[in-house]
Amino acid sequence: MNNQSELEKYVEYGVAGTPQIKADEKKHWLGEFRERITFALNFEQINRKEAIKMVEEKCKDGRVNKLILENSVLDTIAEKYMDVAKKYDKEYKTIDMNTNKEIALVLASNEAVNEKDILIEKLPVLPEAFYHAKNKKLCKKHMQELREEAPLFIDEFEEITLLDKMMGISCGVCEHMKK
Ligand SMILES: [Zn+2]
Repeated sequence: MNNQSELEKYVEYGVAGTPQIKADEKKHWLGEFRERITFALNFEQINRKEAIKMVEEKCKDGRVNKLILENSVLDTIAEKYMDVAKKYDKEYKTIDMNTNKEIALVLASNEAVNEKDILIEKLPVLPEAFYHAKNKKLCKKHMQELREEAPLFIDEFEEITLLDKMMGISCGVCEHMKK
């Protein structure tokens, strides 16, 4: 005798079926649903200094609840991300994905955020002249240039104050360009 109603069958199928479909998706995004991810890095990007800055920037997003790293990320690198997670009060965890070694880090929310672009093709880089700047103080013009071209690095520099000028400090980029 079959006591199970059509509805019950449907519900059972639904419950058993959904996790199976989502399993592959979760495997790709380090155990999370795609819809909950706000940002991700691949293994090519994870070791770069700019990547850490970028993650730090993305951690300021209040929707982010956790930072998840794939287990094979080097310990020395993982430590830096752990510090960022701690600084911004995000849950930190690592996960061993075995087969999928494409995604190295994800920032995830506890709920769906449906962010469109979660992967970036190229990490931002500090323009050459700023990289070689003689010091971290910049004139108004170069501060503005940095703000427009590489805002990610703005906190590494300061605009020259009147006091700096009186002390004979001049713009690090202008100084570099003189050469
Ligand atoms: Zn300058």
